[in-house]
Amino acid sequence: TATLYIVATPIGNVTDISVRALHVLSLVDAVACEDTRNTGNLLTRFGLSRPMIAAHQHNEREVADKLIARLQAGERIALVSDAGTPGVSDPGARIVDAVRSAGLRVVPVPGASAAVTALSASGLVNDQFYFVGFLPAKAKQRETVLQKLLTVGATMVFYEAPHRILDCVEALTGVFEPARQVVFARELTKLFEEIHRCPLSEALEWVKADAHREKGEYVVLLEGAQAEGDAEEAEAERILNILLAECS
Ligand code: SAM
Repeated sequence: TATLYIVATPIGNVTDISVRALHVLSLVDAVACEDTRNTGNLLTRFGLSRPMIAAHQHNEREVADKLIARLQAGERIALVSDAGTPGVSDPGARIVDAVRSAGLRVVPVPGASAAVTALSASGLVNDQFYFVGFLPAKAKQRETVLQKLLTVGATMVFYEAPHRILDCVEALTGVFEPARQVVFARELTKLFEEIHRCPLSEALEWVKADAHREKGEYVVLLEGAQAEGDAEEAEAERILNILLAECS
């Protein structure tokens, strides 16, 4: 039956593609993708060849109409992005919205997403997380966004474009308390994968310690704000300790 499959692809290690994703990619009539060369390589790697339709952030609306017409004619179509899960800091959401609104079937085929991959190996104990994604490129706008996140209690998840990690860390350091834990998940599932946790106060030093660290794909996780009660309790304990020291 006519279906739009939302297929997650690897974020580095090509063997992370799922058996089901390969099955779906082998049976669909066409693959809508962000970059036909990139997806063409992935398909070739697994001995597949499918007609491809370019679907990137600049043509999502037009492509949605095209895909709807094809689905209405009974076709099965896969939607993939360059890496990871479509629609997560990637094109796809508008297409899915249009296809759903047209009353057509949308089926997710899950797989890698950099955010969840980073969280899983971060060791940050937190059952809530807040996905921020990419921060604005302009310093002023970035700071405004970060200021608004100061009181968020959940672990925050940032995506960072390659080459912009220093700006990102400088911005975080300028806004958040130095004791907050930060986790850098760099080049996940790739040859030079690195996952490093430290207080924010040491973050800049860590990035600068190795020239390679100023490049590469990063997920940055930042510990959330302490609950107000916790902060008050900590302050009360601090004062109590000072008083006890005075008394002894
Ligand atoms: N749709 C993708 C997902 O599900 O994670 C995200 C695509 S977004 C355009 C690309 C960003 O995801 C990168 O700039 C980086 O922040 C993060 N990312 C993707 N692959 C990564 C990897 N292997 N290691 C670390 N971060 C990665």
